[in-house]
Amino acid sequence: MFLMELKMIKIANPANTIDIIKKYGFNFQKKFGQNFLIDTHVLEKISQASGVGENDLVIEIGPGIGALTQYLAIGAKNVIAIEIDKNLLPILKETLADYKNISIINADFLKVNLETLIGDAKEKYGEFENIRIVANLPYYITTPIIMSVLESHIHIDSITVMIQKEVADRMQAMPGNKDYGALSLAVQYYSKPYVVAYVPPNCFIPRPNVGSSVIRLDIFKIKPIDVVDEELMFKLIRAGFNQRRKTLVNSISNFEGLSFSKDEIVHALSLMGKSEKIRGEALTLFEFALFSDYLGKMAVKPGQGRENE
Ligand code: SAM
Repeated sequence: MFLMELKMIKIANPANTIDIIKKYGFNFQKKFGQNFLIDTHVLEKISQASGVGENDLVIEIGPGIGALTQYLAIGAKNVIAIEIDKNLLPILKETLADYKNISIINADFLKVNLETLIGDAKEKYGEFENIRIVANLPYYITTPIIMSVLESHIHIDSITVMIQKEVADRMQAMPGNKDYGALSLAVQYYSKPYVVAYVPPNCFIPRPNVGSSVIRLDIFKIKPIDVVDEELMFKLIRAGFNQRRKTLVNSISNFEGLSFSKDEIVHALSLMGKSEKIRGEALTLFEFALFSDYLGKMAVKPGQGRENE
């Protein structure tokens, strides 16, 4: 995905976040992760990187005062903006008054029924070419939000979000990198991540204590690997990174919820040509899937399982 190939959206009179905050005497709420963007170049970059097109549905999480929402509304067929803080509703009414293709929903994103919202939008606007999530996410719930979307198996084409830089680095890390871990594997099982831009703290009000990155996740229509038991693979991944310095044999044999003996784990690793001293951080996603399939077969006792299917 190359940014230059994507359409740039420009606005003649974008909402001025600082003026609006002053006008309404708005008090930022730390508990909602409120760091609003004040740099129009960054707003342009996020909307451009999202690849939003005129036949797309965009779901925005946390519109704030609507600064990014304006760009999305110009680029998309319909925007659903979900905001938890009711104090922002009168402000959004003013900043988004000229845009007729936006629905604002006052709710916690983690509690909305996304499938129903998408169904309602299709009834009103017809079919969409792509369904995209775009947001400057509240950092206190970045991972739960992204994982809830990926694990929901609801048809979404892409997620383009501003998140804490360290979290973005973990999402796209590969084996051998210090940031590689359970989050990298989970995100890369469902999507192809690209970090699009680094955004420094001075682009926000109030300034966050951390650097930020815009990351785009293109969600796979077909998974990059086949695994018999997805749940077992993710348990093994969690166990494998729970204590990074331990070998897989030790971390998995002691992990609650898994009941493989050390011999079984060593045997599964030997079938893959791997040493019993190997750590989780050395296995690729494909190798975790293979490891899970070998261990899964061992867990099926004669007369119980797959050989009788
Ligand atoms: N989009 C705006 C911008 O870029 O300036 C605001 C981004 S600010 C980092 C995060 C926004 O998410 C805030 O408006 C906050 O109130 C909202 N928010 C926080 N938790 C939320 C949740 N669980 N569901 C929906 N919105 C939430």
